[in-house]
Amino acid sequence: MNDANPLKSAVTDTLQRPLRDLRISVTDRCNLRCTYCMPREVFGKGFIFLQRVELLSFEEITRLARLAIDLGVRKIRLSGGEPLLRHGVERLIEQLAGLPTTDGQPLEIAMTTNGTLLAKKAQSLKDAGLTRLTVSLDALSAATFRRMSDSTASVAQVLEGIAAAQAVGLAPLKVNTVVKRSVNEGEILPLVRHFRHNGVILRFIEFMDVGTTNGWRLDDVVTAREILNRIDREYPLRPVDPNYAGEVAKRWSFIDGGGEIGVIASVTQAFCHDCSRMRLSTDGKLYTCLFATAGSDLRGPLRGGESDAALRQRIAEVWARRTDRYSQLRHAATVQPVKRIEMSYIGG
Ligand code: SAM
Ligand code: SF4
Ligand code: SF4
Repeated sequence: MNDANPLKSAVTDTLQRPLRDLRISVTDRCNLRCTYCMPREVFGKGFIFLQRVELLSFEEITRLARLAIDLGVRKIRLSGGEPLLRHGVERLIEQLAGLPTTDGQPLEIAMTTNGTLLAKKAQSLKDAGLTRLTVSLDALSAATFRRMSDSTASVAQVLEGIAAAQAVGLAPLKVNTVVKRSVNEGEILPLVRHFRHNGVILRFIEFMDVGTTNGWRLDDVVTAREILNRIDREYPLRPVDPNYAGEVAKRWSFIDGGGEIGVIASVTQAFCHDCSRMRLSTDGKLYTCLFATAGSDLRGPLRGGESDAALRQRIAEVWARRTDRYSQLRHAATVQPVKRIEMSYIGG
């Protein structure tokens, strides 16, 4: 690919937000059917997932990632669907980890996984160059886990995966818990007790109105404030400064030295003002917001032979036009339902 007339500088959007993070969905398939993400009524037997030829290849993903790095990206997160279902995903990590940054700043390669297939893969992921790992786990009790994930997978499988990842040095490991009113709110304290003093950073996420299939209602959201109050009553907390500007999770540490937790208040305390995340769907569309209604196709131009410079320009223009601040604008009573994109497709 020729690279005449390269535009190789950082871009900012209409609200002066730089492009720093790229989330890549490597598959739209998943072995769980979490009710808040891929409800079985919609993603059941009749659902048509993408065909192999429609997926971006690892080479195509790596090429687009390289161009996004030229425009400012310094953190890449692989997601999905369930990223560990993508055959040979370690090879993609290896390719991404080999990409240079022009300013010498390290490139972070992270992954979010449901952890069910992690135990056997932790070592190969680490060896391939994965730098950070987040495992999603919504409950410790078997019944509640089953209810949240609507699957026959077990909590033990996920805990084994977490232990394996810690053993190979994928630290500090984060565990994400989405909290849904009356379903798993009773798991907050058991999860805290389990992961305190364990080197794991547990992060509670407010249940979001992503996509259009999860039947979201504001009443189902347990707010970050409420979550923190519950924890603080048993294990007093103090706030911790963010690691960097734009960090999504608000950090808290246990006063008794038990470690750190985080809350992601996507609904009640929107963080659009410094959102620097772009998403690449499994079939090569770029989205500039989790709540986007449409994406910009890159696969067509990519497979049509477009040069690096032209593709880079295309990505830069998508970012430069970006006006998204959905969560800031969200007002439960007034937001009209629109046809949004499912999270399993563009990557959480
Ligand atoms: N399958 C992987 C997993 O579950 O970790 C990666 C993809 S998943 C879409 C990424 C993250 O999005 C998970 O931590 C999941 O809990 C979160 N998520 C999905 N739907 C959500 C929703 N409606 N509200 C809040 N978080 C959600
Ligand atoms: Fe699958 Fe992750 Fe969505 Fe659950 S949250 S259905 S594990 S993609
Ligand atoms: Fe970023 Fe969109 Fe979420 Fe706001 S709503 S934080 S712009 S992804």
